[in-house]
Amino acid sequence: MTPGPHWYPVYVGIGSNLQGPVRQVEDAIGLLAEIPQIRLAATSSLYRSGAFGGIEQPDFVNAVVAFVTTLSPADLLSELQAIENRQGRERGEARWGPRVIDLDILVYSREKIDTPELSVPHPGIGERNFVLLPLVEIAPDLVIPGLGRVASVPVNMEEPSISRIV
Ligand code: ATP
Ligand code: CA
Ligand code: CA
Repeated sequence: MTPGPHWYPVYVGIGSNLQGPVRQVEDAIGLLAEIPQIRLAATSSLYRSGAFGGIEQPDFVNAVVAFVTTLSPADLLSELQAIENRQGRERGEARWGPRVIDLDILVYSREKIDTPELSVPHPGIGERNFVLLPLVEIAPDLVIPGLGRVASVPVNMEEPSISRIV
């Protein structure tokens, strides 16, 4: 038997707070699903939450998707950025400022990556309810390198409120 390509399990966080955020998040999931090297496995509900980071801006809509991919972490990041560009994301805006679409690699298999381009697992997972709650919904038993089992990570009580919308 000839070995086929390796399919690595990946979790990606999606967020939007401009130009019809629900539609933007759904469009991004649709574009991910069209990539031949990606097979979608699960999609969380959509969640609405107040922005964090101290900038006055519209509420965010967030979701997390799980898929397997043959893409390397770097190639996956390029694909995510291509989707962001396609949906009209403007570069050079404030970090944590308003954006049409944001796609972050949360977890890539058991990889730990720490380069200027890529931090994996994403360092914000444990601090952000808008990542934690959708992740608990679709992958409670996922063990994140350095953080532990998703369902065991405490929810942050002092963060803006978050609610499931779709
Ligand atoms: P945060 O990463 O804290 O959520 P952000 O999403 O607002 O902030 P961006 O402006 O979207 O940050 O991205 C800045 C850079 O972050 C990207 O160009 C990318 O190279 C880098 N980056 C590092 N780790 C990751 C990751 N796990 N997923 C996506 N981008 C990452
Ligand atoms: Ca982000
Ligand atoms: Ca990002």
